Amino acid sequence: MSESDKVDADPSEDPIIEARGLTKHFSDGGRLFSGFKLQRNGRLPKITHDPEIVRAVEDVSFEIQPGETLGLVGESGCGKSTLARTLIRLLEPTDGDLYFKGENLAEMSSEDLRKKRSDIQMIFQDPQSSLDPRMKVGQIIEEPMQAHKMLDADGREKRAKELLERVGLDPSHYNRYPHEFSGGQRQRVNLARALSVNPDLVVCDEPVSALDVSIQAQVLNTMKDLQSEFDLTFLFISHDLSVIRHISDRIAVMYLGHIVEVADSDELYKNPKHPYTQALLDSIPVPDPRSTDVRATLEGDVPSPINPPSGCRFRTRCPQLIAPEQFEFSEEEWANVRRFSRAVKRRTFASADPTKIKNEFFDGRLPTGDAKPILEKAIALVGEEEFEEASTMLTENFEDMSICAEEVPEYEVPSEYGMDRHIANCHLYCDEY
Ligand code: SF4
Repeated sequence: MSESDKVDADPSEDPIIEARGLTKHFSDGGRLFSGFKLQRNGRLPKITHDPEIVRAVEDVSFEIQPGETLGLVGESGCGKSTLARTLIRLLEPTDGDLYFKGENLAEMSSEDLRKKRSDIQMIFQDPQSSLDPRMKVGQIIEEPMQAHKMLDADGREKRAKELLERVGLDPSHYNRYPHEFSGGQRQRVNLARALSVNPDLVVCDEPVSALDVSIQAQVLNTMKDLQSEFDLTFLFISHDLSVIRHISDRIAVMYLGHIVEVADSDELYKNPKHPYTQALLDSIPVPDPRSTDVRATLEGDVPSPINPPSGCRFRTRCPQLIAPEQFEFSEEEWANVRRFSRAVKRRTFASADPTKIKNEFFDGRLPTGDAKPILEKAIALVGEEEFEEASTMLTENFEDMSICAEEVPEYEVPSEYGMDRHIANCHLYCDEY
């Protein structure tokens, strides 16, 4: 999509939606016995109950301008869908403020909120299960209009047929059932249903992920056309950066409940600053099968949101974790310590012989100073196959002492290819580093 195809957002207008410090926690009380612990340090064993908190979304702030498409991208399980549902108050926020066209959604009565629902619509990932198989598509499209008492029966039928045409279907499909449509067509029905009540904001949660790649582009292009026609603002959620690039004006990258980077679409692709964004972009497959370009992929899984890492939540997987100041490592020494720590976590050693380990990871020379005895002890523990203890020791003495573990990063960097601010929440952009 060229720049000219994109809908111009007007930054001088009030945002359509604005989140400030939005937070959503869940109490992990749904599972039987969750949070119960048996303590044996007294004379009688004691059962305590300390419910675990799932910190799905934490202190998230952003806004979307009228006519804009904000893409929200991140791996599965990073909190994108929870953020979307909290944003439109399908889930109650734990904390933070939420403004829709300047009005505080959190302070709205349930009746006012019900009326506002027509202004905010949502499209879900699975077009199959989000359509009632017993209803004809005409009824499906008319249902939100009926709920919001829009038009009379004839007016609703006329509008439903018009919308079918606008989304690229035949108005004669009005009397068909969802199972008579392909996946792409069903998502078009969902689109028509969302548009039936003239919304201002449409939150699209992975709307094309279940579709074939060839169909994805067609549906995305239809959405883009309808955006200008219906004056829509989109929050578009996807784990797929190629899809996000196709449709977004601006992109927010999310990791484990935090927004880590926000920039104009072009700026983010040409000048990614956060190591997580860089890793996501590096893991996009290269389209040329003859290419020998070897791309780095993200190591490890997203940690549990029940006990997320302190400071920067990406630090347990970050290839650029900043060395703790007190050790004065050279770049090479720190890279070796990190490589050794990763091998201990994965338990991947060709030999348990300490000398061989020292040669393999440190070229036979351990860093000097306070780091040396810690590494010697860790190498000895690996020799005894005490991997768990070695790993804890390395983590506590090195990773946990980094500024990345101590402070939540919040930075802005100069934008080179975009007009908007470029937020890159990584300590690498603190002046000191
Ligand atoms: S703050 Fe540290 S751990 Fe987080 S992304 Fe930046 S360098 Fe990596």
